[in-house]
Amino acid sequence: MRKQFVVIGLGRFGTSVAKTLTSLGHEVLALDKNEQAVQSVMQDVTQAVQADAREEDTLRGLGVRNLDVGVVAIGDDLEANILITLMLKEMGIPYVVAKAQSVQHGKVLEKIGADKIVYPEQDMGIRLANNFIRTNVMDFIELSLDYSIFEIIAPSKFVNQTLGKLNLRAVYKINVMAIKKSKEEIVIAPGANAVVEEKDVLVIVCNKKALSKLPD
Ligand code: ADP
Repeated sequence: MRKQFVVIGLGRFGTSVAKTLTSLGHEVLALDKNEQAVQSVMQDVTQAVQADAREEDTLRGLGVRNLDVGVVAIGDDLEANILITLMLKEMGIPYVVAKAQSVQHGKVLEKIGADKIVYPEQDMGIRLANNFIRTNVMDFIELSLDYSIFEIIAPSKFVNQTLGKLNLRAVYKINVMAIKKSKEEIVIAPGANAVVEEKDVLVIVCNKKALSKLPD
């Protein structure tokens, strides 16, 4: 269902939230006091406005109180973050999400009525750490937001099988660029006949989502 959002604070977090919601087909009003931040999302959201969101009249003038969801994505300015969260709730926005910098900050946001509190930095760190553990990732190079090159210890399920039989591109959407047999021996661009052996390190390029689907 199409919903109407206001995203306040267009730093890295606010910008990616605003753009993603828009690309999912929602209506997004993006707001920042910094003109440059506003310019940089202009093409990718429904409406982008330069304003200080602490000014209640400005928010009212933009019809913010009629929207379904408010996202307060201001990071460093705690006072603005708290004040704006409070104002959005007092205006009657049914669901307000606020970004917290710390657990204590999160507690304050909860007290003043935020419906959801997010800790983007911590969440990202936890997710990344989980990924490392789950798939035996030894190293990675980020190629883009979605794609990376990973070095993973060959999953036990792959051992003693040929790449041809494993058919990893079709089954897991990963591409094997090289197999490290030892420090000295590396098979570059291995063919279908290459056999995965125990303790091999696979150098793969894939979407981060695909990585999480690999067996241990
Ligand atoms: P991130 O860590 O996600 O990059 P930042 O805290 O660096 O987040 O970015 C916050 C954004 O919020 C900045 O672009 C800043 O201009 C904006 N901002 C801060 N205070 C206000 C305010 N009172 N009204 C509107 N925008 C604000």
